[in-house]
Amino acid sequence: MTESSSDEGCTLRRETERVVNGIAQGLRTLDAGVGWFAGLGPARRQEVLQEVAGYAMQAHITAADGRAGVVRSGVKPTANPAVMICMDPPRYGFACLPDAEHVTAFRVLVSVFAIADTRRRETDCKGACGHGWHNLPAATEQP
Ligand SMILES: [Zn+2]
Repeated sequence: MTESSSDEGCTLRRETERVVNGIAQGLRTLDAGVGWFAGLGPARRQEVLQEVAGYAMQAHITAADGRAGVVRSGVKPTANPAVMICMDPPRYGFACLPDAEHVTAFRVLVSVFAIADTRRRETDCKGACGHGWHNLPAATEQP
């Protein structure tokens, strides 16, 4: 791996953090996030799916979060990513799904993460917390 590709990976992770947490915190819409995601190449989309799956794991999503998130995502409950996230424990191998399912996987993952993360912000993180991603700059900086 070259120096420049690891720089790009870092930029992509920061961008992913900003987009996904922006959606979770109501600073941007899921459709806007999907627009950003769909414009990435397949390899980048896999990296993003892996990154967001990591956020979902850290947020300790439950099967109930999975079901509520699938409803919110607008993805059919029978679609592979929807089935995976509703398993107990959830399956996180979204980056291994075929290209054609990347966008539905992103919709499902972000929607479920948003539900679990909102609960965390309203309980554990209430008041102030040290999580950089819970203290994003104001919406004026968003494109
Ligand atoms: Zn926090």
